This record gives sequence, structure tokens and C-alpha cells, in this order.
Amino acid sequence: MVRVRFAPSPTGSLHIGGARSALFNWLFAKSEGGHFILRIEDTDRERSTPESEADILDGLTWLGITWDEFYRQSDRMGIYREYLKKLVDDGKAYYCFCSKEDLEAERQSMSANGLPPKYSGRCRTLSKEEVAKRLDAGRDHVIRFRVPEKEIAFRDIVRGSVKFDAALMGDIIIAKNLDEPLYNFAVVIDDALMAITHVIRGEEHLSNTPKQILLAEALGMEVPQFAHLPLILNSDRTKMSKRMSDVALHDYRAKGYLPEAIVNFIAFLGWHPREDKDVMSADELIKEFDLKRVQKAGAVFNVEKLDWLNSHYLGKLAPDALTKAAAMFVPESWHLTPAIMETVRNRIKKLSELPDLVRFYFELPDYDTDLLRWKDMPLTQVALNLEGVKTVLDKTDEADYKRDVLEKRLAPLAPEGNRGEMFWPLRVALSGAKTSPGPFEIMEALGKKESINRVEAATIRARKAS
Ligand code: GLU
Repeated sequence: MVRVRFAPSPTGSLHIGGARSALFNWLFAKSEGGHFILRIEDTDRERSTPESEADILDGLTWLGITWDEFYRQSDRMGIYREYLKKLVDDGKAYYCFCSKEDLEAERQSMSANGLPPKYSGRCRTLSKEEVAKRLDAGRDHVIRFRVPEKEIAFRDIVRGSVKFDAALMGDIIIAKNLDEPLYNFAVVIDDALMAITHVIRGEEHLSNTPKQILLAEALGMEVPQFAHLPLILNSDRTKMSKRMSDVALHDYRAKGYLPEAIVNFIAFLGWHPREDKDVMSADELIKEFDLKRVQKAGAVFNVEKLDWLNSHYLGKLAPDALTKAAAMFVPESWHLTPAIMETVRNRIKKLSELPDLVRFYFELPDYDTDLLRWKDMPLTQVALNLEGVKTVLDKTDEADYKRDVLEKRLAPLAPEGNRGEMFWPLRVALSGAKTSPGPFEIMEALGKKESINRVEAATIRARKAS
């Protein structure tokens, strides 16, 4: 059975790249009927925070990425200790007592001699007694893996054949001590014990892969298959980095992107379906996802495409769901209704644009009376037209405050070919703004009482000013 994992370190917010790794793993697991495992890699105690873990879980849940199993590395320290000890006992790892200064001096003399800097292996040959003595004396140390000097070749599902010369690596540090394993070590133990079949992760981990393969081999553990996802690039093709703004998933959520749009968008960051199409639901993605179609070349993050997808999904959302999603973007005192949302859903790219568009429903702006005039129309005529509208509105039952009905009843008031004379003043009376949804839609959303109040108020203004 396919078993994959998303293994974030909780040292910051879940960013777009992390969400993409999670999504690709999840899509692959779902498409293969396998398991998706969430593993929090919090062995770095200083940098890991509960807030970051919460942000990651929250972001995944928001996207609809559900996990079948959950682990936290800090709960598994005893396991790493056991395997670390085994490696040391087998002579495949050793204690290193070299100080920072020793290592720096070594590096300098190597580069002075034109050699690539790597650890010389000075502590490799310390006797057991000497090691025990130094440990007893409480000397600072790390644990290094005795890296075999050989070439490592593996097939990456995305990148094809990859080769590394381990002789250039030197003996890598795999733990600060028996109780503080480092990433490259813990990841190998977990991937093997959790029976991970495919490691799908960002390209930045490609150089860790040979280290992990060597460690797995030394431990006699199964090596998973690897698929390294391409870098995500800004539109100018520079690398999108965590340090830049707008890489945190929660920023996109706060801006009012829908999870459906984000899922669709990030699925295409380095992958595309066989057919040429842009819009795909999570279910369609699961059906079509195929690791073999992941590209090697960097994937450009095109925010215009994200906006376009988001408008598309906003347009498709059921009225109640749209209203619910929108509620957190406006002040609590504004009671959004499906009717209000219907008047603006096609005008927004993201929900954060909502307050400016719907404010007039809740707070009629103090508009300039002249705005009520259609072209050069005198305000006395504006008042007469609005009075005509009000007569019809008065006679219309609340239940008939539907855009079509209202339009049908009011249309006969407007001169043929010049609807503006009647409906411009009406629209301004209702919205107080130069641009807004059409008057019939607004009245459906406002209901009878408020519509009439606004028309009356505008009539009074026009009369007073004329
Ligand atoms: N904890 C690693 C990270 O957040 C994950 C590496 C991996 O997927 O192997 O970058």
C-alpha cells in the first residue's frame, strides 16, 4: 500500500510551498488508495513552537487535506535514541569532540590547500576508553555518521537519475547527543518505521537524499522512492522565499481566497493534467493526479491566475455557503444575507474586497445631492421621478421584492431608450454611490421598508436643494 507523509517542521507558518507538498502527497495517497501521514518534525526544540504547529494543522484542515495518521517526533525520542545507540555500538557512528575553533581551523587549512571543506574525521579513531573518559568528563560533543566514500545513485520520480559523490560529504552530524537527534537522522528512522513508500517533498531537500539513503543502508532499513517537487518561482522567475511576504497560507485566507481556489491553484504549481484545462475540483485532481506528470522546471506563481480561479469559485459557491464564507470579512454588526451576496458575487476577486462593496447596505453614505441627477436633469425632475417610483414601491408587496418583478413593474415609468432618467436617481438613492449593483437587485436585498425609506430620503434632499 502507498504510504506517504507530509513532515513539516513547526518553526514558522505553513507556507505555499509546504501546502503544495502536503497537497501532492495527499492527492497521490488518495489517487492510489493509500495513507497520508502527518508528521510534525519538532526535534529542534528551540525553534519549534505550538503556535506554528497549530497554524499548520489549521491550514491543512482549511484546505480539506485530512490525514490518516498523526505523529510528533518529540513523542518518539526514545526510538531515535535506541537507533542512535545501535549505530554507535556498531561503529557506524561516533562521538566527535572537536570544538568550533578546531573545525574552523581545519576548514581554513583545507581551503588554503585548494581542497573542498569537509570534516577530516579526526575523532573517527578515538578509542572506546578515550570516548568514555571524555563523555564522563562532560565534554561537549556531537554524533557523526561515518559516511562511506562512494557514489550514490538513485532514481527520482521527477528528476530521473541523480548522482552524488559521498566522498565529498565528510562525516555528517546526525545528533547533538543521544537525546537530540537531528533532522537527517530522525527522518530516516521515521520513514522506515512508518513504512513510507514515497517521499514527496520540495527540491531543497534533494541534497539531503544521499545522506538519508546512506543512513538507511547503514541501519539495514528500506529506502523509499523519492519525488522532489520543483521550486516555486515569483513571476520574475526569482525563487519564492519564506522571507518574502505573502508566502504564508493564512495570508491568502485572510485576503479572502477560497480553499477550493487555493487547492486548484497549487495543484498546478509543477503539475498539470493530461488534458488542457485550468479548473479542477479536489475530486477531479484525485482522479487525475499522477506523479509522473510533475515537471522538473520551476513553477511560476501567477497571482492573476489565482485571482481568476478565485472569482470562478466565488461565482459557483451556493448562496448560503458564500454568505457564510463572507461573514468574517465584514464587521459583526453587518448582517450579510444571501440576497446581498448575490448582488456582489460577480464583482469580487476575493472576499477582502467585500466591505467596500457592501458597506452601503449597512451605512448609506452621505452622498452629494447632485449625484442624483441624470445628466443635466433638474433636481425637481429627480424628485418627481423618485415620487413616481415610490408610488409603485408602496403598492408592491414585500414578497414581490424580487429583481425581476420590480423591474417589470417599474420599467413602464421609464422613457423608452432612456432608462437612466428614472433608474439613475433611483440607484443613487438606494446606494449613495456613483457605482453599485443595479437598483432592482439592491431593492431585493434591502427589502421593502428600507428601499422606500431611501427613496423618500433622496426625494426630500432633491426637493430641498432645488
Ligand atoms: N521537516 C522537513 C521540513 O520541514 C521535512 C523534510 C522532508 O520532507 O523530508 O523541511
